[in-house]
Amino acid sequence: QEAWTEKTIALNAPAPLKARLFANENPFGPSDKAKKAIMEALPTSYQYPFRSMPDLTKKIADFEGIKEENILMASGSSPLLMAAALYYSKPGGNIITGDPSYEDLPTKATRMGEKWVKVPLTADYKLDLVAMEKAIDENTGLVYVCNPNNPTATVVDTAQLKAFVERVSKRVPVFVDEAYIDYLPDPQGTTLIPMANSMPNIIVARTFSKLYGFAGLRLGYVVTQPDIIKKLSLYTEASMSITATTLQAAIATYQDREYLDAALKKTVTSKEFLYEVLKKEGYTYIPSSANFVLFPIKMEGKQFTEEMMKRGVGVRFWKFNNQEWCRISIGRMDEMEAFATAFKEIS
Ligand code: PLP
Repeated sequence: QEAWTEKTIALNAPAPLKARLFANENPFGPSDKAKKAIMEALPTSYQYPFRSMPDLTKKIADFEGIKEENILMASGSSPLLMAAALYYSKPGGNIITGDPSYEDLPTKATRMGEKWVKVPLTADYKLDLVAMEKAIDENTGLVYVCNPNNPTATVVDTAQLKAFVERVSKRVPVFVDEAYIDYLPDPQGTTLIPMANSMPNIIVARTFSKLYGFAGLRLGYVVTQPDIIKKLSLYTEASMSITATTLQAAIATYQDREYLDAALKKTVTSKEFLYEVLKKEGYTYIPSSANFVLFPIKMEGKQFTEEMMKRGVGVRFWKFNNQEWCRISIGRMDEMEAFATAFKEIS
């Protein structure tokens, strides 16, 4: 699997791909307003963007009803995941995650000597919060919760998650990665940002890379208490890592419902098309709450991925529960059609 990360697929893909469906990007973004804001920011981009960052922080704080001092931004959420991995890891410690889940933070933690405790998902492919709580011991440095979870695109029950985080954060820090929360019907009712704003030991990460379509522009943030912000800031260059153009694009698009709803709608249309293709070919899938779908395949994952790649379609594979899986990101309709054509040939 190591050789098949998103980066290696991107670097080895025969250009151009007909369908780029391996990195959970959003081809319906960034919005026209974001592009216009970037063009307008260019003439003054010789200046350090000292003002733009507090402007964006204030916008986010106002929308969420939280304190500006509880927000730490960086060039994507990855640098903040890394900062948490570095700060909370120590030799002899352990980090608890679902399995499978997003591997970036725990992978970095293991490089710091942390033991990675992988807790299998429930039978319906959700994070098993009960088992994750049971796995905590005196050496646990961090619990990582990815909700919606990548690669399964499943969500846990909000009330259950809130109760879990309330209990667990009294014992150990909890990192809640909400990269895909914008795809849910009620992100405001689901997010743990209000808890992170008012309680200690909780970190919530958000990114503009997904629904906002900023994966290449790079912008993310965490919400947590100022003491943790101070610690995380020691392990990443947050403020000076974001470009003036990206900041202006974010200020122009943050909570732009018109754009966000249109992108969501196109995602749903492509996803429903994909579901139909899979059903017609006799495949099942895990119902998805994000912009990607995980489904069991009837071939070895590496071979499947290579066969798809030969046909100009980039996807990723997983193996767990003694089953090979394909994770396909939701793209434009022409990309989903390219997938369907290739899939029918090899399935
Ligand atoms: N968290 C999750 C669950 C992700 O899937 C990703 C990227 O795919 C990230 C974080 C990192 O995204 P970024 O650094 O672009 O914000």
